[in-house]
Amino acid sequence: MQDGGGIGVRCSGVVHLYRTFEGHDVVALQGVDLEIAPGERVAFLGPSGSGKSTLLALLGGIQRPSAGRILLGDDDISRMSERHLSRLRARRVATMLQGSTRNLLPYTTARRNVEFARIGMTAEEADRAPGVTDLLDRVGLTDQADQVVSTMSGGQRQRLALACAVATTPGLLLADEPTSQLSHVDRDAVVGLLHDLNRDFGTTVVVVTHQPEVAATFPRTVTMKGGRVGSEGHHGAEYAVIGSEGVLHLPSHLTTQWPAGTLVRVDAEPRRIVISHPADETGIPRDGLR
Ligand code: ADP
Ligand code: MG
Repeated sequence: MQDGGGIGVRCSGVVHLYRTFEGHDVVALQGVDLEIAPGERVAFLGPSGSGKSTLLALLGGIQRPSAGRILLGDDDISRMSERHLSRLRARRVATMLQGSTRNLLPYTTARRNVEFARIGMTAEEADRAPGVTDLLDRVGLTDQADQVVSTMSGGQRQRLALACAVATTPGLLLADEPTSQLSHVDRDAVVGLLHDLNRDFGTTVVVVTHQPEVAATFPRTVTMKGGRVGSEGHHGAEYAVIGSEGVLHLPSHLTTQWPAGTLVRVDAEPRRIVISHPADETGIPRDGLR
């Protein structure tokens, strides 16, 4: 994988199961197909339990998929050795897990945490990347530089976690609800930092968020539903996605208007799929269903 610039992502047929203590399997992802271009900015939306955190952890190489393939650039991380994977995580792919504490060393200072995040970089990379003081300043933690993490507020920890994640100017930044505990001012600063990283270093940015104001700043949204990609949005327009075995997942707000059992007409020429509202009697001509 080349250094510098954004890393593209390709998932095909990604399935993930968790084994519970009782010994049964929970299907968190059931066949995710997804492509993210290098340098793209994507927000993942979707209800709790729809698999957003699982997908992000798989993309970051923190968990391995039960089945399917995940490519980061040209590297197949579903088959990569643990050593190769940890080198990738240290330098090119940064993951900010959900919750502010899991990403930090709690018993040392903010400054030491950022320094630690930079350890994996070569001297040349460290030269190009923003310095520790600059990073702390960008997330508004200049005054907390020498404060021990365990004494910082939730919002401060979340901002520090982001400073650590961007410290190596990764090619791919994955952030799971990075603004969930922040005030509006802090939230806007953090979101701004994510977009700056993309603009300045070409970093591909993927965030999970439940905040519409945050999602609206991203050119592309992907809505997860029941362990699958449910729908896509690009600059305000919304698209449904055809999943494996030809299953079409409508955006959830449309499923009440177009309930299960609604007929879908497939035209061969011109190639198109037409979904007509059930109440609209003239919508589907009878001969269209032959
Ligand atoms: P989201 O981030 O969208 O809320 P998650 O990826 O956290 O969704 O969870 C997807 C599904 O997997 C849920 O049903 C959740 O209960 C289950 N799950 C997540 N983590 C575990 C785990 N460690 N053990 C068992 N089940 C899990
Ligand atoms: Mg989650």
